[in-house]
Amino acid sequence: MSTNILDIDEKVIVMVEKAEDELKDVFKEIDRICLLNTKKVMGAFCKNKISEIHFNATTGYAYDDIGREAIEKVYSDIFHTEDALVRIQFVNGTHALSTALMSNLVYGDILLSITGAPYDTLAETVGIKENPLSLIAKGVKYIEVELENNDFNYEKIETKIKENNVTMIFIGKSRGYSSRESLSVDKIQKVIKKIKELDKNILVMVDNCYGEFVEEMEPTDVGADIIAGSLIKNIGGGLCETGGYIAGKSECVKRAAETLTAPGIGKECGATLGKNREILQGLFLAPQAVKNALKSAILIAKTLETLGYKSTPKAEEKRADIIQMIEFGNKDKLIAFIQGIQEASPIDSFVKPMPWSMPGYNHDVIMAAGTFISGASIELSADAPIKEPYIAYMQGGLTYESAKIAICYSLNKMLGGKI
Ligand SMILES: *Cc1c(COP(=O)(O)O)cnc(C)c1O
Repeated sequence: MSTNILDIDEKVIVMVEKAEDELKDVFKEIDRICLLNTKKVMGAFCKNKISEIHFNATTGYAYDDIGREAIEKVYSDIFHTEDALVRIQFVNGTHALSTALMSNLVYGDILLSITGAPYDTLAETVGIKENPLSLIAKGVKYIEVELENNDFNYEKIETKIKENNVTMIFIGKSRGYSSRESLSVDKIQKVIKKIKELDKNILVMVDNCYGEFVEEMEPTDVGADIIAGSLIKNIGGGLCETGGYIAGKSECVKRAAETLTAPGIGKECGATLGKNREILQGLFLAPQAVKNALKSAILIAKTLETLGYKSTPKAEEKRADIIQMIEFGNKDKLIAFIQGIQEASPIDSFVKPMPWSMPGYNHDVIMAAGTFISGASIELSADAPIKEPYIAYMQGGLTYESAKIAICYSLNKMLGGKI
């Protein structure tokens, strides 16, 4: 590396590789899950006889786009659902989630979120932040129950269900950018069982962003009626340029499709413009991309733990998403680390991220994202609000090796030779 601008002190590399050695068993378990998920994806490809004809581009109305139809069958086979909607017309994950919510809730319905407030970008969909088009503005009643000790608050959930004629329950699997923990499929299974015992007609929806392929099972394997997510995160495998998906009960997916397009049109239209191959190849690579992202997150956690920093989740802890939090406790170290991640990115390595006051945030924010796909957080990325205790949220890593180099480089920069 000596002629490379990515110069790293040998001592830093030794430290990171020592942490790596100690992670052998954790990595082995991740390899095991990746193998199972790869098999699941391959099985769905075989079953649906995916072939080059499915890569053909359609334009205009795109009736009978066989590639699009095959993709949606493959998704529903992977998630074990009755149907799926996988579209480049979804502008992001929020759009897919919002469509799932908006289409399956009508005037007079009751939405109960049991993981506290949904992800920030859904605040106006729900109406927690005022918007004349929100669910609340359209006559949907919204209630929420916070998690307790990082698990569902069963007592409160039961009370709310008994007091209200709940239509839909919302679960956020990933912590997103909050301090709560992410929820494993096991925990989700337990709560869904309880919900359905109380009232089998309640629909359960899960925000599956950042969660796909992290575990052996998906929320739909344990009773979730509808899930949604983004194609520029886990399930796009780093290849998808845009899009989102919804999978679940046919009735729910049909309503979502007729909300995305128009009543009576539903899933029948939607040009794929040559993106079908990307969606399929991205899906094929996705378990691998998730594996690399998980190993990268765990390597960061382990290395920084050995240096005395606090990480959440801990390196060895079981994971339900790909997000890693590191508490730097010091502004300069946080900024140096994040700038290091940018400098060691394949794209825009020459850009120096600086803290700035981003609209919608109370504090300055610094972000590193040297990505091929703009905003794709399955690629190595990091961001942090500039406030105590100086926590960075990191995720992604399309290849483990590139993330490892970025981690070494960032540490080297942060430690400034003091090792
Ligand atoms: C990313 C994400 C979303 C959707 O965000 P987009 O940026 O619109 O794709 C929703 N929920 C969670 C937990 C997420 O991580």
